[in-house]
Amino acid sequence: MNALNSRVKVIIRCNLCGEKFILRGRKEKGKIDTGFKQCICSNDHDFEIEMNDF
Ligand SMILES: [Zn+2]
Repeated sequence: MNALNSRVKVIIRCNLCGEKFILRGRKEKGKIDTGFKQCICSNDHDFEIEMNDF
């Protein structure tokens, strides 16, 4: 077991419509889990993602 899971702030910007989402996620083994599924414009794959550790 390790205690390296950390919370991160994730900023997701849609490359199609420019909408910006600010989410809180958990970092586990290099993967970010935010629960984000898709943008309001139905884009679900073309994003610019920025992560900041708390
Ligand atoms: Zn969009």
